[in-house]
Amino acid sequence: MENCIFCKIIAGEIPSAKVYEDDEMLIFKDIQPKAKIHLLCVPKQHFAYLAELDEEKSALLGRMLKKVADLRGELGLADGYRLVINQGELAGQTVRHLHVHILGGEKLDWE
Ligand code: 5GP
Ligand code: ZN
Repeated sequence: MENCIFCKIIAGEIPSAKVYEDDEMLIFKDIQPKAKIHLLCVPKQHFAYLAELDEEKSALLGRMLKKVADLRGELGLADGYRLVINQGELAGQTVRHLHVHILGGEKLDWE
């Protein structure tokens, strides 16, 4: 997808601090961390919204969530973590490539 910053990161055209990669997803450090640990998990396939999920994309998102859970120890998240998916303008979604924020490494505020 042209002009998509996360597609460029996936393609290696923009550098990123990768912490996990396989053939269908990438996990890398957020450039402006909002918690001690702030990672982004993105599908390699470009799509922007949960509203676009079909059976195949839903299964992929499921595997992304499971991967985060499986890697929680290695990622420093064994004591807890928060996942956030911003959708659209009011949520402050700035990158139109679906991404799961992974936050942790400290007590996270709620409210
Ligand atoms: P959103 O606001 O769309 O939910 O989240 C986009 C996230 O992507 C933000 O937390 C922002 O800091 C992060 N981000 C934007 N550009 C880059 C980049 O070039 N590299 C990395 N690692 N993160 C980025
Ligand atoms: Zn993209």
